[in-house]
Amino acid sequence: MPIIASNFKTNHTRKSTAIFVNEVNDYLKEKNILSEVYVFPTATSLDIFDTVSNFIIGTQNAYATASGSFTGEIGTVQLDEFEIKTILIGHSERRHILGETQNVIAQKYEFYKNLGYKIIYCIGEPLEIKQKGIKSTLEYIYEQFIGIDINYENLILAYEPVWAIGTGVSATNNDIENVHNAIKEKINKPLLYGGSVKSENVREISQIPNVDGVLIGTASWKVEEFIKIIENTK
Ligand code: 13P
Repeated sequence: MPIIASNFKTNHTRKSTAIFVNEVNDYLKEKNILSEVYVFPTATSLDIFDTVSNFIIGTQNAYATASGSFTGEIGTVQLDEFEIKTILIGHSERRHILGETQNVIAQKYEFYKNLGYKIIYCIGEPLEIKQKGIKSTLEYIYEQFIGIDINYENLILAYEPVWAIGTGVSATNNDIENVHNAIKEKINKPLLYGGSVKSENVREISQIPNVDGVLIGTASWKVEEFIKIIENTK
């Protein structure tokens, strides 16, 4: 069953999120789609959505705590209120813009793992590493597994090359296949691709060996396009 995940990042309001979720949910109910669909809205929109069973709402981020004095953060007390049990960890924007170190990420991973959360764990290299070739790319990616229990049963991986995120330029099928094959050889977990996925390229990308689904930003923010993506994913 392919996995299709939408990461809203800092987009949509509570109102537009509710409309989006309801429309996607209605579509999934009617169509009996075989994909597993995830939506990661902003923290302000983590309401309890009454969704069909293969449709999951997750949080883009949370701190490794139940509650406490961590200004600007949310913890499991807040997530429990919305019955959220799915989290994105290691996204490139948290690593590179918000400055999360591997150490912080590993602590967060361990905390949410111990609570049984489903974790979508993101990895991916910046452009200057990609330009050095596949060996450097894989070395860089493997360092992003330091402190991460790769045997965790509720782990899903997402390979998102930094240079392909939000640029409109997806990695080539060849690049995706090479990196996915290498990661899968070491870590036998569902592995998504992310980086400029859209309705026009999702069919090809989702058919590459060892691609178990997609993690999408920009193209997933409009419900019509997201539905097209779900339809085109095989
Ligand atoms: P884009 O689909 O906008 O490239 O973003 C990918 C991403 O970062 C998903 O987490």
